[in-house]
Amino acid sequence: CLTVRWSRVKPKWATTRPKYPATRLALHHFDVAYGSQLGPLWPSVRVALLCEKKYGALINNFSHHDAMAELQLQGCKDFISDTAAAERGGEEVSQSDLQTTSDASVHSNIKCLVFPEETSYLPLLSRPDSDGLLGYYLMDAASVLPCLALDVREGHTVLDLCAAPGGKALTIMQTYDLGFLCVNDSSVSRTMRLRRVLQSYVPKAQLSDAKVHISSFDGTMWGDVERDSFDRVLVDVPCTTDRHSVTEDDNNIFRKNRVGDRRRLPQLQTALLLAGILAARPGGEIVYSTCSLSQQQNQGVVEQAAHLALEQHGIHTQIVDLKPLTQKFSNTFHFAPGLSVGEMVVPHLAANFGPIYMCKLRRLT
Ligand code: SAM
Repeated sequence: CLTVRWSRVKPKWATTRPKYPATRLALHHFDVAYGSQLGPLWPSVRVALLCEKKYGALINNFSHHDAMAELQLQGCKDFISDTAAAERGGEEVSQSDLQTTSDASVHSNIKCLVFPEETSYLPLLSRPDSDGLLGYYLMDAASVLPCLALDVREGHTVLDLCAAPGGKALTIMQTYDLGFLCVNDSSVSRTMRLRRVLQSYVPKAQLSDAKVHISSFDGTMWGDVERDSFDRVLVDVPCTTDRHSVTEDDNNIFRKNRVGDRRRLPQLQTALLLAGILAARPGGEIVYSTCSLSQQQNQGVVEQAAHLALEQHGIHTQIVDLKPLTQKFSNTFHFAPGLSVGEMVVPHLAANFGPIYMCKLRRLT
């Protein structure tokens, strides 16, 4: 009886199961690409990518629940304010360091807690307060960095072009004093998820039409709707999501039937960044980010989009140095050494965040 059952089940199982799972294809691809791009750094980054990642808890300033105190009691530390406090209080801080600090302002009202020890993990569930708003949002702590780099100031109008599921939009909203926020994502289902995330963390009054606009456009076409207007634009593009690609077969961009999507990524990313540049006002700033280590999806895209902005639209851009910002956080994250364009958090067993690449552009004309 067992033999009969096995012979019925086996062929179906054998034909539906791919010969090489997407995670294995991804790892093979990365071994080739990152082996040569990162050289001796790659083996340790590879191990970290395959190990359990660390989270950060973005504190929700809109919640009455004091999640910050609760997590601090468990040993968590706010990696942003701790750095700012060390800079203010440290006698050894030199005048030139202080100059750098003021250049790369860090909003003290964005708080993200991490466990300093690599072995401790944050509780996954955050409790709602009396208004039903959750106390913190779990995300890769390195994802907060592009939002800090964006440097949103009082009254700024901000566009988050690829915003779902909403971790970075929520981080930007923690700065309180922004003027107007447009959050967009081309996927209707993901935009619905984004809306649910915002509703779980932000009071209704802060989500009024006068303050937040949620849309579901193809971001590459944003210029057809609105140009030259935003003070800040975040372009957090779809990418090979390297950590996901080596650990999860579900929705994996290395699946055989998604080869076309993967090959078109740099083209899509360039079109999105170009649209972000067009959406910013002259003098405005744009942050491009990915969660991939790929030079082609990172530096390659930034250079190509800046080139197209000039060639096709006569728009000059300038790369803004993010070193002053990353230096502040070098105790929490491992940054790739010697990148010529942008900064990148690389996964490391002792600080298993990232990968996150970010590059900031200023629109000059
Ligand atoms: N910023 C988000 C956050 O912090 O939660 C993550 C964004 S995710 C890396 C990239 C997003 O880009 C996906 O939600 C995807 O649906 C969206 N996307 C893909 N193509 C797009 C396009 N042409 N226009 C706008 N969004 C797009």
